[in-house]
Amino acid sequence: MNQDLYNQLCEIVGSDNVHVDEEMKKHTTFRIGGPADFYVLPHSKDEIGRVVQVCKNTGEPFYVLGNGSNLLVGDKGYRGVIIQIFKNYSDIIIEGTQITAKSGALLSKVAKKALDAGLTGFEFASGIPGTIGGAVVMNAGAYGGEMKDVILSATVMTQEGSIQKLSNQELQLGYRTSLVARQNDIVLEVSLELKKGDPDQIRSLMEELKNKRVTKQPLEYPSAGSTFKRPEGYFAGKLIMDVGLRGFSVGDAQVSEKHCGFVINKGNASARDIVALMDEVTGRVKEQFGVTLEPEVKRLGEF
Ligand SMILES: Cc1cc2nc3c(=O)[nH]c(=O)nc-3n(C[C@H](O)[C@H](O)[C@H](O)COP(=O)(O)OP(=O)(O)OC[C@H]3O[C@@H](n4cnc5c(N)ncnc54)[C@H](O)[C@@H]3O)c2cc1C
Repeated sequence: MNQDLYNQLCEIVGSDNVHVDEEMKKHTTFRIGGPADFYVLPHSKDEIGRVVQVCKNTGEPFYVLGNGSNLLVGDKGYRGVIIQIFKNYSDIIIEGTQITAKSGALLSKVAKKALDAGLTGFEFASGIPGTIGGAVVMNAGAYGGEMKDVILSATVMTQEGSIQKLSNQELQLGYRTSLVARQNDIVLEVSLELKKGDPDQIRSLMEELKNKRVTKQPLEYPSAGSTFKRPEGYFAGKLIMDVGLRGFSVGDAQVSEKHCGFVINKGNASARDIVALMDEVTGRVKEQFGVTLEPEVKRLGEF
């Protein structure tokens, strides 16, 4: 272990918030992923900046993690520092029709606050199991809504360490992508503009969308949501079903029988199983339909 780096990280975030050889399967919704050399949980933007600076000074790679709900970490883990921006950095403030959340706030918590304040427009995100920081990076969306519709601005830390407030337009939010994703910026804070609404209607829409998820998605198994992006003019799940891969397995990795757009972990799937299965799916869809499936799930570390 790099003792000097460990000491420096402990000095910044406190020793309780620095873990060594942390199994990433504990921090991804796929429940897959080997050990990260270091895993830290900062409490403030100052701590985030200092951790990044230490990594840069020592030449140590680092990676920002939200709730790990769109991530496949390799079986051999990650050589470097995982900076998880999550519960320690997740305050949510409401002022009028605006909600400002630290990037570690879960979308479900933000949606609940919006409901409590009688604000509408964020119901679409209530069942997406990510942080608001991860949702900006991915321009997460569901059921006809996306982050782009509600973001007023986001405060980010650039690779150079400067802090900038970017407007909705400056964030260049596209289908499951953003400027932040391309530049590897760190999202610190997000402001949303919602509208006054009727709490009963907001609640019932959230319930309706939740029921749709429970009925249609294999939520009873670990996964990372939709495995592939939606190819222009098609649905990934339908293409996969039509090539006959419903229920297809590699080890414990399986194309969900309930929703072919999801790859699930039936128990002890390895990252290699998931990759092998994704390769087979991509190859078969390309061969039969000439459509290239692009992964939506991000990959990290050593496989
Ligand atoms: C059951 C299930 C259902 C899902 N349904 C949907 C859906 O309906 N719609 C949808 O869009 N997605 C869906 N997802 C995928 C996922 O929840 C979203 O992509 C979510 O926005 C990811 O957020 P996260 O905090 O988990 O990010 P992570 O998975 O931790 O990270 C994703 C990417 O964002 C980066 N990142 C995370 N936080 C930050 C930050 N603060 N600053 C900079 N970079 C950061 C990471 O480096 C990584 O590149 C689903 C996933 C599951 C498991």
